Amino acid sequence: MTYTIAPPVLPSLPVSGSDQRFPIRRVFCIGRNYAEHAREMGASVDRSAPMFFCKPADAVVSDGDDVPYPSATTDLHHEVEMVVALGSGGRDLTPEQAVTLVWGYGVGLDLTRRDLQAQAKANGHPWDVAKAFDHSAPVSALRPATEVVLDANSVLRLSVNGELRQQTTLSEMVHSVPQIIASLSALFELKPGDLIFTGTPAGVAALQRGDRFHAELVGVAELKGRVV
Ligand code: MN
Repeated sequence: MTYTIAPPVLPSLPVSGSDQRFPIRRVFCIGRNYAEHAREMGASVDRSAPMFFCKPADAVVSDGDDVPYPSATTDLHHEVEMVVALGSGGRDLTPEQAVTLVWGYGVGLDLTRRDLQAQAKANGHPWDVAKAFDHSAPVSALRPATEVVLDANSVLRLSVNGELRQQTTLSEMVHSVPQIIASLSALFELKPGDLIFTGTPAGVAALQRGDRFHAELVGVAELKGRVV
């Protein structure tokens, strides 16, 4: 068997302290998972109904790589988020079952064309062009869950050009990681290789060409890069 055209390269991320790479299948994202961020966007949090969207796997950009400023926007925003990588799959899971799917953790930016998102919201249109564009998902190297200790006091933060822009503890999450995975598993059969962006805290703002970003899930993962 041969393909009609060259098959796409499988997107992947490095693993901290290893030569192995983590293959990426899909990228799921939750919206409005920190109440202060929902408020700054003029929205409210619906605790009973988490809101999801997706990015293509090949939107992922590795640590240290440049992010090209995207076309068709003049308001590119950063959203720093904890990223969860799934090592196994399942559907219709309880939160207790869901947490066993987690292979590792990282930190990423859910880059957003905020002007196109505002237009989409106003018109009742889908968010794809605002969220799922090329290079819209920089993610750190992943750290295996077996090496990670996270709790309510764990800190997620982002600096741009050395200035702190976003900072939170994980205690501010509306839906916990097990709850997010369980909710997603009622909508999709989850698979090994799926990544989940778990929402951003308040402080989202614009990035310009030349800006250097430094995202951290403190003690777990770091992501550095530049917008060009
Ligand atoms: Mn986000």
